[in-house]
Amino acid sequence: MSIPVSLGANAALDPQWTDAEQSAELQTLRTIVDSATDGIMVIDHGGKLTYYNSVAQQQVAPNSLEEGQLLASLLPEGGRIGFFPWIERSLGAAVERRLKVHLPWSDRWIEVRACPAGSNVVLFSRDVTAEHARETESRRSLNRLTRAVRVDALTGLGNRAAFLERLSAELAAAEPRLLALFYVDLDGFKDVNDTLGHRSGDQLLQKVGRRLRKFCADGAACRFGGDEFGIFRPIEARADVEALSEALLAQFRRPFVVDGAQILLGASVGVTLASRQAVDAEELIRSADVALYRAKTEGRNTFRIFDQGMADSIARRWRLKVALKRALLRRLFYVAYQPIVDLQSGYVAGFEALLRCRDKQLSSAPLTELIELAEETGEIEQIGELVLRTSCAAAAAWPPEMFLSVNVSSVQFRSGQLRSVIEAALQASGLAAERLHIEITETVPLAANDSASAQLDSLRELGVRILLDDFGTGFASLTYLRAFPFDGLKLDRSFVSHFSAEPETHVIARAVGAIAHGLGLRAFSEGVETKEHARALKRKGYRFAQGFLFAEPLSETSANELAQARFRWDIDALEIGTVLQEANEVV
Ligand code: C2E
Ligand code: MG
Ligand code: MG
Repeated sequence: MSIPVSLGANAALDPQWTDAEQSAELQTLRTIVDSATDGIMVIDHGGKLTYYNSVAQQQVAPNSLEEGQLLASLLPEGGRIGFFPWIERSLGAAVERRLKVHLPWSDRWIEVRACPAGSNVVLFSRDVTAEHARETESRRSLNRLTRAVRVDALTGLGNRAAFLERLSAELAAAEPRLLALFYVDLDGFKDVNDTLGHRSGDQLLQKVGRRLRKFCADGAACRFGGDEFGIFRPIEARADVEALSEALLAQFRRPFVVDGAQILLGASVGVTLASRQAVDAEELIRSADVALYRAKTEGRNTFRIFDQGMADSIARRWRLKVALKRALLRRLFYVAYQPIVDLQSGYVAGFEALLRCRDKQLSSAPLTELIELAEETGEIEQIGELVLRTSCAAAAAWPPEMFLSVNVSSVQFRSGQLRSVIEAALQASGLAAERLHIEITETVPLAANDSASAQLDSLRELGVRILLDDFGTGFASLTYLRAFPFDGLKLDRSFVSHFSAEPETHVIARAVGAIAHGLGLRAFSEGVETKEHARALKRKGYRFAQGFLFAEPLSETSANELAQARFRWDIDALEIGTVLQEANEVV
C-alpha cells in the first residue's frame, strides 16, 4: 500500500476539485485508512506528525498522539533509541525501509515500513508480537536441538563432538603450543549408582562436571558419556604434566556431598601430550584412553602418561582377540589335564582341566591374558562350555574315585546359563556330579542376593563341589569364605614359590591350612615345584597338591594312561627331574 499524497489536515487532493469535493474525498480516504489493520503515520520532512490512524495510536505511542506533534516529542526517552534515529534517516531515504522494533512501554514487537512519499514519509506499522514469539520459539528449539547434540544434558559440559571440535581448533592454532589432554574415569561410580540410586549418581556426575569445569578454560572439558570425562589444557613444559595430573587427581580427594551424604570418589586419569601442530584430535583422545586403561589396570586412583609401548600393547591385544576368534572357528582349542596328587597316599586323586590352544600366536601368550581377552569379548562362554564338555567326557573314562576340576570365569555366571551348561556336560558324558569340582576366583561377585550365589547354590544341589581358586590373592579372601560354603580352597602358587625366599609365606600357608581345617574344607595347593614344597605343604595339613614336581598339564591320552594306572608318587623320595612332561601341541 502506498499513499501518493500527504494526508495532513490541510492536504490538497486535486486542485480542480471543489472544497466540498475535496473534503468528501478526504473523508473517504480517512475512513479507509482509519479502518486499515496496519498502523499508519505520516511524517513530514520537518519531522512533524501530519497524520496517524487509530491503530498507529495504539501500537506505537504510549501517550495520545497529536497531529502536528514533533517526532522527537512523540515517544518517551527509551523508545527513541533505535526507533527514532531510524525514522529520521528514513525521511531522507529514496527507497522503502523496514525495521522490526521492540516497544518497551507496551512490550510489543512491531514491524515498521517507511515509504518515502514526496517530501513526507509514510510509516506503516504492524504488530508482529505473536509472529516474533513463534520465530523466537522455533529459533530456541533449534538452539536446543543444536545444543543437544553438542552439550551433555546432565552436566552442561560439551559432549564428545563439541570437545573434538574445540580440541581440533586448538591443535590447528597458528602458535604451536604444548597441550595436555586428560581422559578421566571415575573409580567406584557404579557402586554409588547401585547403592544410592541413579538420581544421586546423576547429581554426583553434575558435581564432578562443576569441579572439572573450574580446572580448565571454557569449553575445554567434556563428558564422553557414563562416568568418563575429557579435559585439555595448554602447558608450558613437558615437566609440568605430572604436577598438573596430580592437581587433577586432587580434585577428587575432597568428598562430594550428594543428598547430605559424603562420597569419596577416586578417579583414574590417562594423559597424553601433543606438541605438534595438526595432530589428529581423535588420535589424541585414543592415546589418552590407552593411558587411562593402564591407569585403571595398575591400581586406579592414579594417572598414567601415554607412551608408544602402551599403544603397542593395545595393538597386540587386538591382534590376539582376532586370533582368538579365528582359533574358535578353526576349533584349535583343546584341554590339558594336570594331575592333582593326594599328598598322604601319593596317588593321583584327580586332574585340573586347563585350556590350551594349537595356534602358535595364542599359545605364546600367557593363558591368563587369553582368558581375560575372551572375557572381554564374551567368547569365554563358548570356550568355557567347550572345556566343560570335553573334560567331562575325558573324566568319565577315569577310575570313579578320581575327580575333575574345571575353572569357571565370573563372566560365565552373567548369562545365568552355567547350571544348564554343566548339567548338559554331565549328562552327555555320564560323569557323576560329585566328581566335578568347579574352581572360581574372587572375581565372581558373591554378595547376598547375587545371581552368582544362587547359581552356585543350585550347582551344589546337583552335587557339584565348589572350590575357591588362587586363595590369598584377592582383596577380601576371608570375607569371601564367609560369603559361600565352599567345599575346598586352593592356596595360590605365589605363596609356595616364595617358600625359600620369604619365611612369612610359610606362616601364611600354615594359617590358610588351619582355616581350611577349621571350616571343614579340603585344602589344595598349586605350584609345587620341589620336594621341599611338597613336604612343607604336607606338614601344614594340605591334602592335595599339583605342580611341575609331579607333572605338567598332560594331553588327554597321557592323563588317561596315568589315571588308568592309578599312578602313585613316592612323596618322600621325590626329586626334581621326575616330572612328567609333554610338549604342547602347536600347529
Ligand atoms: P589356575 O587355575 O590357578 O591353574 C594353575 C596354573 O598353574 C596353570 O597355568 C598351570 O599350568 C600352572 N602350574 C601348574 N603347576 C605349576 C608349577 O609347578 N609352577 C608354576 N609356575 N605353574 C604351575 P595355566 O595353564 O597357564 O593357566 C593359568 C590360569 O588360566 C589358570 O590358573 C586359570 O585361572 C586360567 N584357566 C586355565 N584354563 C581355564 C579354563 O578352561 N577356563 C577358565 N575360565 N580359566 C582357565
Ligand atoms: Mg584353577
Ligand atoms: Mg590357581
